[in-house]
Amino acid sequence: MGRPLPTRRAVLAGALATGVATALFPGAAHAGGRQPRTIDPHSRSRVDPRSISCVDTRKRVVALTFDDGPDPASTPQVLEVLEHFGVPATFFMIGRNVVEHGELVTEVVRRGHQVANHSQDHLWLDRQPPGVVQRQVDLGAQSLVRAGAPPNRLFRPPHGWTSGTVADVLGQEGSRSIFWSDCLEHHLALGPPSAAVAAMAERVLPGSILLCHDGGHLDGPHPQSFDRSATVAALPHLLEAVLARHLRFVTVSELTGV
Ligand SMILES: [Zn+2]
Repeated sequence: MGRPLPTRRAVLAGALATGVATALFPGAAHAGGRQPRTIDPHSRSRVDPRSISCVDTRKRVVALTFDDGPDPASTPQVLEVLEHFGVPATFFMIGRNVVEHGELVTEVVRRGHQVANHSQDHLWLDRQPPGVVQRQVDLGAQSLVRAGAPPNRLFRPPHGWTSGTVADVLGQEGSRSIFWSDCLEHHLALGPPSAAVAAMAERVLPGSILLCHDGGHLDGPHPQSFDRSATVAALPHLLEAVLARHLRFVTVSELTGV
């Protein structure tokens, strides 16, 4: 099972503590290096109130998202699974990978999925000054446009780590940070795939935004290399379990109206 969500009282206490810290140390909430990392939906929405981690809706719809691609090692397999189930998804792509694998962007778009910006280099934006944040947002968007992806106002900060600076830069552009309510790899790290899928399907609610990763390889200042075969193997079971709960998948723009 995943970590239980904090109670309303705990969230309120956290919000009050943040308010106190800001009152005692003006500017603390925007002081890049000293701000605690935003590691859950509550801290993300405190730092960026316009951000979205899930949607309040009575419709039985959820959004499936994939981060860090495109990646020839796993994106084509993910696309095959989605095709088999007739499920649309939203791919938050890293500009650096977009430049390298433009043909995969074309294929993702051709199959009717949404493509969105996950920064150019997957920098840890909550520790970056405004100029760097702006450049990462702009370059990531440019890479997608050059690869033929239709533009939109969705942005996902790498790791979900955001700051007042990131919020300000996106706000000036009319863009929104899109986070998530649950993550497949989080559950896969905790136990066997069947338990991971069951735990995630049990927690999903109308309006949930689910995160998976199709990108394993990344070069640059913060390189990473992950084997995403466990994600690819678990994905059909996750889709089956969520669809069995009579929930329908839509893109992030369809879910959020952004
Ligand atoms: Zn990422």
